[in-house]
Amino acid sequence: MQFRPYPVSVAFPESYYTKSQILLETALASVPGYNTWRKDDPDIKQNIDLRFAAMPILTKEDLRAHFPEGFLYPGRDLAAGLASKDIEFVKTSGTSGEQVTNIWHQKWWNNSEIASWKLNSDAYAAATGAPREAILASPLSVGFKSDRGDLPMEKRLLDRFLFLNDLADPRAWTDSYMDRMIDEINAFKPVRLEANPSLLSKLCRYISKSHRSVFQPSLIVITYELMSQLHLKHIRAVFDSPVVSSYGSTETGYVFMECEAGKFHQNIEFCRVDFQPLKKEHGGPLIGRILVTVFQNPWTAIIRFDVGDLVRIDEHQSCSCGRKEGLILSAIEGRTMNLTFTTAGYAITQRMADEVISSIDGLDEYKFVQTGTKTYNLIVVCNNSLFTDIVLKAHHDLKQLYGQDATITVVQIDAVAPEVSGKYRIIASELEIDEEALFENINNQ
Ligand SMILES: [Zn+2]
Repeated sequence: MQFRPYPVSVAFPESYYTKSQILLETALASVPGYNTWRKDDPDIKQNIDLRFAAMPILTKEDLRAHFPEGFLYPGRDLAAGLASKDIEFVKTSGTSGEQVTNIWHQKWWNNSEIASWKLNSDAYAAATGAPREAILASPLSVGFKSDRGDLPMEKRLLDRFLFLNDLADPRAWTDSYMDRMIDEINAFKPVRLEANPSLLSKLCRYISKSHRSVFQPSLIVITYELMSQLHLKHIRAVFDSPVVSSYGSTETGYVFMECEAGKFHQNIEFCRVDFQPLKKEHGGPLIGRILVTVFQNPWTAIIRFDVGDLVRIDEHQSCSCGRKEGLILSAIEGRTMNLTFTTAGYAITQRMADEVISSIDGLDEYKFVQTGTKTYNLIVVCNNSLFTDIVLKAHHDLKQLYGQDATITVVQIDAVAPEVSGKYRIIASELEIDEEALFENINNQ
């Protein structure tokens, strides 16, 4: 039987398979990080998708263990690359378990981003020339950090980019600090606003409350975190601009881009995406994790890297935007580590839980934590007068999702704290989860 890499049939150009094969064979032959993988290659005459599926998964631990030479593309001279500034070492933010130092090649990153814009007409239209771009993100992710948040605008400008935020913890944002952001957006008039959705939600709530007017960029690009429907509600109250989500990672570049019709298209020129479905009882076969192989990075060979996220494959692999090639997703479902479970033990993705919680009226912020197999805490930030209604609705809706025997505790606080990485984790579980047990083993088909 023909090996099926996805639960649906997906269209790729012939060049996609050629690139996949060259990269895999080069890596197995001469990239030290893949020495132990050679024994898993079934047969070079086999279908290339099957050969990829037979390979192990590349993890952050692997990247750390073999840094810096282990995943270097054959023939590359690390010292020469660093000396000529063609590459540099870049460390991602987060806890020690999350951090990875990568060999960073800016040209590859830029080219990957430019290719991803083709997947959204609004992004493509806003991409001509060198458009001014304002970035609202944690300085732990990108930009410039100061402890007091007092870096003047000229010190937060870099080329065509303006970094609006220099404080690591958004809970330290004062009204005058957010006024500064609004003034700068109005003066800088960015063509694109690139934003972490938690941070943009907070700024938008302030703009709404203070009735200030704000310049409307041609495009708002959401990245760094999965956008909550609650974030989108707050953003939509302030901005009429198209809001699109861009999906990728430091290790993989730009992997998926949301099109103007709201589906996600694969950036096939710059990556291959393999898929491992969740077991049926946990939401498979259309929901699963993606394993990303990077094309066109002349410095490193990254194959089947587990980004740590789940996606939902579009069942029909068609989109009203007309784009046909590459994997089409109907949604990004969120981090695998942010899965929660019903009282019967079935997986609920971050997006599924968020959809329910975000539909509760009157929330400014929330954090939802599964504390036991049948116990869940919903921590909310809201106006006091709305709290009773929020509790009632949360009990009703979350029991429908998690089970009537679920114990839901709702607590009110002033503000949700970000993680060590500077990003927010608004849905989490304290249960010990055997992640591997959740997935179908597709190697043995
Ligand atoms: Zn589309």
